[in-house]
Amino acid sequence: MNCIFCKIIDGEIPSYKIYEDENVIAFLDISQLTKGHTLVVPKKHVKNVYEMNEDLASKVFQSVPKIANALKKAFNPIGLNVINNNEKPHQSVDHFHIHLVPRYENDEFKMEFINHQDQYEDDDYEKVLNKIKNNL
Ligand code: AMP
Ligand code: ZN
Repeated sequence: MNCIFCKIIDGEIPSYKIYEDENVIAFLDISQLTKGHTLVVPKKHVKNVYEMNEDLASKVFQSVPKIANALKKAFNPIGLNVINNNEKPHQSVDHFHIHLVPRYENDEFKMEFINHQDQYEDDDYEKVLNKIKNNL
């Protein structure tokens, strides 16, 4: 399969590997959005969150606190974002991965949380939540 992360897992191409166990591998993201930017990747090829099952999801997330704490101890960041992109607009590698992005004062990584609370009444929240619940 022509998947760059499968090639890293198989050792066909190099990576800056931080951690590995039976189910996951963690390595430095080549783009280093901030210092220590790390990817946690299941060894099993699944495209994105929609293809995960509960067992794989728990196995993959299991290693996240350990790596997050290592990043915290290593670099003393002011915070840390745990991010996963699925399909558009941001997924560029079609093998599920979790980004751990340590945050620093005045770093250049931007996440915008725009509050739309003023556009929602009780009714609107109810409609949205029911639509989701009906699809669980
Ligand atoms: P996403 O946009 O969420 O799909 O993230 C994919 C990430 O994979 C990007 O941040 C890339 O910098 C990173 N990436 C792509 N190729 C490599 C590689 N060979 N080694 C490490 N990271 C990579
Ligand atoms: Zn893959």
